[in-house]
Amino acid sequence: MPLDLVLRQAQLADGARCDVGIAEGRIAAIAEGIAAEAPEIALGGRLVLPGFVETHIHLDKSCILDRGRNENGTLEEAIAAVSAAKRGFTEADVYARGQRTLEKAIVHGTTRMRTHVEVDPRVGLKSFEAVRRLARDYAWAIDLQVCAFPQEGLTNDPGTEELLVEACARGADVIGGCPYTDTDPMTHIARIFAIARRFDRDIDLHLDFDLDPSWMHLDEVCRQTTAHHWGGRVAVGHVTKLSAIDHARLAAIGRRLADAGVAVTVLPATDLFLMGRAHEHHVPRGVAPAHRLLEHGVACSLATNNVLNPFTPFGDCSLIRMANLYANVAQIGSPRDLKACLAMITTLPARLINARDYGIALGHPADLVVLDSRDPALAVAELAQPLFGLKRGRRSFTREPATIHRPD
Ligand SMILES: [Zn+2]
Repeated sequence: MPLDLVLRQAQLADGARCDVGIAEGRIAAIAEGIAAEAPEIALGGRLVLPGFVETHIHLDKSCILDRGRNENGTLEEAIAAVSAAKRGFTEADVYARGQRTLEKAIVHGTTRMRTHVEVDPRVGLKSFEAVRRLARDYAWAIDLQVCAFPQEGLTNDPGTEELLVEACARGADVIGGCPYTDTDPMTHIARIFAIARRFDRDIDLHLDFDLDPSWMHLDEVCRQTTAHHWGGRVAVGHVTKLSAIDHARLAAIGRRLADAGVAVTVLPATDLFLMGRAHEHHVPRGVAPAHRLLEHGVACSLATNNVLNPFTPFGDCSLIRMANLYANVAQIGSPRDLKACLAMITTLPARLINARDYGIALGHPADLVVLDSRDPALAVAELAQPLFGLKRGRRSFTREPATIHRPD
């Protein structure tokens, strides 16, 4: 078969060293010494990964630090600050800020993304429509799933459910929920499952976002997932309560999540910033131990969540940075666990968002990122920078490696 491009001496995450041939936007050959009359790029053993997968980010409310701060650093204050700012959002404004954030993700090697978008009577469907336009305009670089969700509650916020239904009718890919802000969380969860069933959508919930382990909405989510046969189609984000329990209870919950088919997304930057604010010292980390859930077969991802807003006043949209941050916070040091952190920004989140055709395999889209590293564990440890990426075989970004200028 004629090839369009050959990547020579690629190091794959599974340890294989080979060439990768690309034809018509797809991976057409994976072998040592591919013979082809095609343009080629010598990688010298650098790591080639399928593009990073961001499962949880908020493009619509990124880059608004100039419109409201979070003086006390609490979740409640963050929600209130964004609620106020949201009233002034326009479609053009959301598009411009979302574009800035999306481009940061692209140049850090992300090729698939699920973004949450707030839908309620204050903002209507303005953010939703802006983000859908971004999805169309940036399809050349990234596959963007849009998850419509009610950040400020559902049963307590008249008009919100109608807007969520309208968003699904207009093509929202995923339906989200946020039971912890609802005065009736159980009904909230039930309504989200009802909408998901009506429109045949996957579910992604903001859940159990505090450090009180005496109760969890996770139980009800697992129960509903099983009752509706929605296993493999439900994800929960934050679940910081899981950082406040012992290993025995965590193992039991891990088995429950795996049995029900509920995936978990950990959002280290936000969780570290917002949790434990009642503590003056010995502040708890508040980051759910995702790597321990992996042992039970739970699909876990590490994701960015918020960028430059009252929930998280940081953010470069680098998932390799998020993997490194998680590893550091979770006290991970072994090569095996560092590689698991890499899996939590590649293969596992791909499973979470039910991505088809993901991974370096024959016939799959050539969605690839080349890292300035030769080892998967060291890539996480050293925050290896992406050098360039391909989306369906076309180069979507390039980052020049740093140059040292020695004296003569
Ligand atoms: Zn979120």
